[in-house]
Amino acid sequence: APGEPFDNEPDTDWSLPSNTAWVRRLMREEKERMIEHIPLSISSDRITSNIVGIGRDPSQPGKESYQFSYVAYEHIPQLLDTAQEAAKTWGKKSVKERSAILHKAAAELSRMRGRLIAAMVRDTAKSPAEADVEASEAIDFCRYYADGLTRPGMEDGASFTPLGVLCVSSPWNFPCAIPCGGIAAALMAGNAVIFKPSPASVYVASLVRKAFLEAGVPEAALQFAPTLPNEIGQKLLSSPQIGGIILTGSYATASLFHQWAPDRPVFGETSGKDSIIITALADREQAIRDLVKSAFGHSGQKCSAASIAIVEASVYDDPRFMAQLMDAAASLKVGPAWEADSVIVPLTRRPGDDLVRALTKLDAGESWLLEPKQQGDNVRHWSPGIRIGVQPGSWFHQTECFGPVLGIIRAENLEQAISIQNGTAYGLTGGICSLDEREIALWKSKVQVGNAYINRPITGAIVRRQPFGGWKRSCVGPGAKAGGPNYLAMFGTWKETALPR
Ligand code: GLU
Repeated sequence: APGEPFDNEPDTDWSLPSNTAWVRRLMREEKERMIEHIPLSISSDRITSNIVGIGRDPSQPGKESYQFSYVAYEHIPQLLDTAQEAAKTWGKKSVKERSAILHKAAAELSRMRGRLIAAMVRDTAKSPAEADVEASEAIDFCRYYADGLTRPGMEDGASFTPLGVLCVSSPWNFPCAIPCGGIAAALMAGNAVIFKPSPASVYVASLVRKAFLEAGVPEAALQFAPTLPNEIGQKLLSSPQIGGIILTGSYATASLFHQWAPDRPVFGETSGKDSIIITALADREQAIRDLVKSAFGHSGQKCSAASIAIVEASVYDDPRFMAQLMDAAASLKVGPAWEADSVIVPLTRRPGDDLVRALTKLDAGESWLLEPKQQGDNVRHWSPGIRIGVQPGSWFHQTECFGPVLGIIRAENLEQAISIQNGTAYGLTGGICSLDEREIALWKSKVQVGNAYINRPITGAIVRRQPFGGWKRSCVGPGAKAGGPNYLAMFGTWKETALPR
């Protein structure tokens, strides 16, 4: 509630039978739910466009799950004018008023937790357990940013002018938490939002918008506008009526948006090729647990996922370590997201060329410790894979693949391991498993990532405790971290007024 110190929202406790029964009921209800056509929402107008998108359940992609409307050329002027008008009114509300509304949105999201989890399962095949953690993060973002303009150093609201209309372009891999974060931050800073969700998670996005509207955000200050990344997207995003773009997506998308709107800020959290170092002084069993969770959680579809392990020679050469790692990965349950204990869920989208290559083709020096297998006739569903003998500088070391494949690189020592870890174009997350303080100190001083994790999985940053964001090509724009104290300050301009003295 407003005025209370920030605390992270607790996740559901799955050790309670009542909670597992709850999630099974949610799944049953969701399976029976018919979803009506999801229209564009420009202010309170619900518009059915003649460009129709199809929502699919990745667990049974042959079947249509729902239809939705895309923005067409003819909608763009109304969309922009309405948002610009709304920005004026919304931006004049006091910080206190906006904060109260965002606290209400957090409460609304919390009330909707079950609906959101079920929608994530259906829309993106996120497992209920991962979706649950994501719902907590969405709530955290709202609450944390709700008080973000009243932190020390940001009290003087008068010197802060919102940017106007911000486009929130959100991804399908965190279809709830990431748009909630962008929307909450943009709104709290006094901007109106054009919400442009990924076409692969429009249903979840429509529920996210609903939560903000229920809380009292005016419809015009939060437009709902799924848009294809073609000339229509370009026309929308390159308009001078857009003050900036909050994007989580690939580095390529961020670069494209930057090209489209070169004089406007793109606040981009982008790609990663993240790795964990396991030294000879690691707790090996703990390392395997953390690595498997980081590599295969949500089938590896996180920017933060571990797609490489860099393993010191004496561990790499120990057949027991490799056997345990293989067992740990092979025993993960491969199943549809609808089954609450599935870990290796279907991929949200058809695998692209890089992922197909990662799943099916080895390069020089590599072999399969565990070979991935397509599940039945669903090209989106693969069991986990582990490639060993990956060479530093090779294709797999350098390329983000976004799926359930882990590569293992052998390193002679920690120094070499660190240079391999830093030897990619990206710098989002990175980890080390070691029980030695000197090794950890050396690593901390040298690793080039935004989120450096010690003896812990490298996914699952927690709002406020681990503000999230990367270096190098993992970031485009000013790069203040999401869920951290400086994030909101990016979404306005600051005026410092001084008298002579
Ligand atoms: N914040 C998420 C994590 O820490 C990753 C976000 C992403 O994949 O875009 O795991």
